Amino acid sequence: MTSSTTTALRRLRSRVRTGSGRAARDGAATDTRPFWERKTLRQMTEAEWEGLCDGCGKCCLNKLQDEDTGALAFTNAACKLLDHHSCQCSDYPNRWDTVPECVKLGPSSVGRLAWLPSTCAYRLLSEGHSLPSWHPLLTGDPDSVHRAGISVRGRVICETTVDDLEDHVVDWEDL
Ligand code: SF4
Ligand code: SF4
Repeated sequence: MTSSTTTALRRLRSRVRTGSGRAARDGAATDTRPFWERKTLRQMTEAEWEGLCDGCGKCCLNKLQDEDTGALAFTNAACKLLDHHSCQCSDYPNRWDTVPECVKLGPSSVGRLAWLPSTCAYRLLSEGHSLPSWHPLLTGDPDSVHRAGISVRGRVICETTVDDLEDHVVDWEDL
């Protein structure tokens, strides 16, 4: 990473309600697969969309982007609103009052966000992959993402304590 960097986007999990059209509902009546296997991201209801998030918290980390090459790097500096234990936003409904640059993720933007971590459920599904075995939708346990070591729990510091983000670049395998 060179010195020509900019901090980038952070958090996703859109509140966008996506269209669950008639065809999708009719199809669902005879298809017993779980919604993430039988629906596209655009067909999901808001609750289904929200449920896809595994709660890893990695999209709340500050990222750096090289202005010359476009290369991205994650840091271990988390947004000041991130709860480091639950890995959830501590003020999600009002987050834009404090963090106006927080990014809203929607079905149409998933494919354009190169900084989504490789484990992110939205990215995985948009690229045609399956959900990983530790995903809470499969385990029925929200803590499974933490036990699998996929979340940021125990691995981050608050951005307010950081002087230079470039000193905090990380190269985790699960990014
Ligand atoms: S799965 Fe993880 S990276 Fe993706 S939106 Fe949820 S918290 Fe962010
Ligand atoms: S405001 Fe909340 S959702 Fe947005 S980056 Fe910060 S902790 Fe994450």
